[in-house]
Amino acid sequence: MTNRAEKIINDALSTLINKFTEIDKISQYNTEKVLNAFAKNNIGSRHFAPSNGYGYDDVGRDTLETLFSDIMHTESSIVRPQIASGTHALSLCLFGLLRYGDNCISATGAPYDTLQTVIGISGNEPVSLKNLGINYKQVELINDCEIDIDGVVNAIDENTKLIMIQRSKGYSSRSSILPSQMADFITTIKKLDKNIIVMVDNCYGEFVCVDEPSDYGADIIVGSLIKNLGAGLAPTGGYISGKQKYIDLIAAHLTAPGLGKELGSYEASYRLFYEGLFLAPHVVAQSLKIAMLFSEVFSNMGYRVFPDNTTDRSDIVQAIQFDDENMIIKFCQIIQSSSPIDSYAIPEPWDMPGYDNKIIMASGSFVSGSSIELSADAPIRKPYTVYFQGGLTLEHGIFALKNLLIQLIK
Ligand SMILES: *Cc1c(COP(=O)(O)O)cnc(C)c1O
Repeated sequence: MTNRAEKIINDALSTLINKFTEIDKISQYNTEKVLNAFAKNNIGSRHFAPSNGYGYDDVGRDTLETLFSDIMHTESSIVRPQIASGTHALSLCLFGLLRYGDNCISATGAPYDTLQTVIGISGNEPVSLKNLGINYKQVELINDCEIDIDGVVNAIDENTKLIMIQRSKGYSSRSSILPSQMADFITTIKKLDKNIIVMVDNCYGEFVCVDEPSDYGADIIVGSLIKNLGAGLAPTGGYISGKQKYIDLIAAHLTAPGLGKELGSYEASYRLFYEGLFLAPHVVAQSLKIAMLFSEVFSNMGYRVFPDNTTDRSDIVQAIQFDDENMIIKFCQIIQSSSPIDSYAIPEPWDMPGYDNKIIMASGSFVSGSSIELSADAPIRKPYTVYFQGGLTLEHGIFALKNLLIQLIK
């Protein structure tokens, strides 16, 4: 079976040669974008130096933020280890920008699970946008793949302050939205009222394409550093990047009014954030190749995969539908046993807080919970779909796939 598995994988790799060349071109482009920004900002080893206390004039922190703005083509950025996760970064934006009586709209249907608690759609937290008197509406995508521009325009009223776009499908079966697909939508909204803030949840999308939502007029883009932009090196953190006036409001909420971005120290070295950013285009390319390889192999075996390899990708998430509870459990267990860390652990479905179904998760990563490293999740519900993403090296993806073919498919 080992030989047969290797043959299946090699055949798929041959089929994907042209697609992989496309990915390499994007990675080359983004690497140059990053290196030009490094050169422009004269990055040197002094930027890795730790700081402590208030962190006034922390050159490592300030320069990392300027570097980010140059790469994302924005005016200002907050890039910090103190941002605990992607949800934290998104929540900071919403609470920093919205006020009592404001309306916000999601233009891509239901947002990511954890944001539903922040907004107050689900959960019953004493603090949520809803409890602060901020109203929320959502407009579904057309055919699960396209922003309903007219629908959103109709949902706008004089109190509409902010519109959210979630780039990645997350753990749903809709399509991910390409930055270029956001262009018309953002132009339309800005023509209608340039003061409506367009905020993009960019999680899992960074460096998948040559462009980012900020290139099409998105006011704020937001993400996690233990996903794409940390390349598996950044130990924690999140980023928020966009228009100066909005970043200032969010920074006042991050620290305190009057203090903003001036405060915040880090007594470990900033080196891993810089080095992660440098490696990110390449690592994102590796995880895209793994996603495409899995997509190719499982679709050839008759499983439904989304996206398939004819679709332009906008994120690193790959879904495979198995229609069988045991298969998704085994899939996650084999991903776990193929991981560099905690390969001896056997993941089981469990009742995760905030979710309606049991969930099984595989993550044998160096950085805890990092999903730019090879990882898989599956809610235990029909149609029994596994979502997986990441992988720092194609070799690791091939190793895991080989094990899946031998142990799962047989
Ligand atoms: C991962 C993710 C989040 C939240 O990130 P955490 O770091 O897990 O809090 C939000 N939105 C999308 C689309 C994501 O993929």
